[in-house]
Amino acid sequence: ITVGVARETAPGERRVAMTPETCKKLVARGARVVMQRDAGRHASFSDEAYTDAGATLVDDAQSVLSAADLLLCVQPPDAAALGQIREGAALVGLLAPQADAARGEAIVARRLVAFPLERLPRTTRAQAMDVLSSQAGMAGYKAVLIAATLAPRFFPMLTTAAGTIRPSKVLVVGAGVAGLQAIATAKRLGAQVEGFDVRPETREQIESLGGRFLDLGVSAAGEGGYARQLTEEERAEQQRRLGEHLKGIDVIVCTAAVPGRPAPKIITAAMVAGMKPGSVIVDLAAETGGNCELTRPGDTIESDGVTVAGPLNLASQGAVHASEMYARNVLNFVSLLLDDKAAESGALSYDWNDELLAKTVWPERAASQ
Ligand code: NAD
Repeated sequence: ITVGVARETAPGERRVAMTPETCKKLVARGARVVMQRDAGRHASFSDEAYTDAGATLVDDAQSVLSAADLLLCVQPPDAAALGQIREGAALVGLLAPQADAARGEAIVARRLVAFPLERLPRTTRAQAMDVLSSQAGMAGYKAVLIAATLAPRFFPMLTTAAGTIRPSKVLVVGAGVAGLQAIATAKRLGAQVEGFDVRPETREQIESLGGRFLDLGVSAAGEGGYARQLTEEERAEQQRRLGEHLKGIDVIVCTAAVPGRPAPKIITAAMVAGMKPGSVIVDLAAETGGNCELTRPGDTIESDGVTVAGPLNLASQGAVHASEMYARNVLNFVSLLLDDKAAESGALSYDWNDELLAKTVWPERAASQ
């Protein structure tokens, strides 16, 4: 069975879906690994490290795409690359097949067995494969560092000969994986940290990291550990209390998301106008439109003295560790396809009774298949 990794083609993408460590494990499992030269370079993994791990390096993407039974990627291959993948091959990565009609059509036309990892059910067994969580951790960490860089203030309290500096007040909106990492990071930098989320169970998690839970009196616990959408009245009340509170906040890091929907708009333009000059908002939810009305995805703007940043693909900025985690997640997932049966038959093994495969594969398969 040939496992292939080509260079990522999305602009600014530095991560790689296989590290020398996971390459070695794939080889130990009997796979032949074909990799495009320099595919790991932007994540600081050298070609030599991959050859030492047993990979065969090739110069061009096409040699990978046409040879692989199983292709691993971070972001989806571009249209040209999709057209070169061997018909019927398996493709594993953050594929967002519905985000781009041409991409979805190409996957269907090439009869690829596509596993968009963002579709993975979030069960206990899937935790070790959960790329959304591992990448969100890096994003939350980087978001706070960006905020600290943009802020015209210290985060920690300082007692100096030039007087005492009070610590910055940081509010983290949304306490999922990214939000909790943001809280932990801001805390380590010495800020006074608050977090809030519509899921009440986050209170304990925020407090365990040394943050204060901001209680806006609105709960929206939904099914399967996700948030549900708030009603109009609940939203209005949340907004009013939040607007008041933000007048005393120096830095906001936004991470609130509802799966499969645009990010909830939580910070209005009026709330931003009410904040102190020199305040900073870093909106990690920019990817899905942003939690702040003023956020421009991919851009940093200033409004009434408040800086609003909407950085994209923050996980890529921590490419070494983000790739290490991503690659381990991917290895754990593809291990399902590379079981003993696969080793015997020399073909990927698809157990469609396994919900992790059946629920992740795209397009959805009819039950009888
Ligand atoms: P996410 O990225 O989907 O959302 C981020 C956070 O935003 C969530 O905590 C959500 O409650 C919050 N949010 C949504 N609307 C909001 C609003 N209007 N105001 C304030 N906050 C709002 O979430 P995530 O990081 O992927 O994780 C969500 C939960 O799922 C976490 O508890 C996580 O531990 C859990 N989880 C479980 C598994 C597993 O068991 N396999 C895997 C991943 C995540």
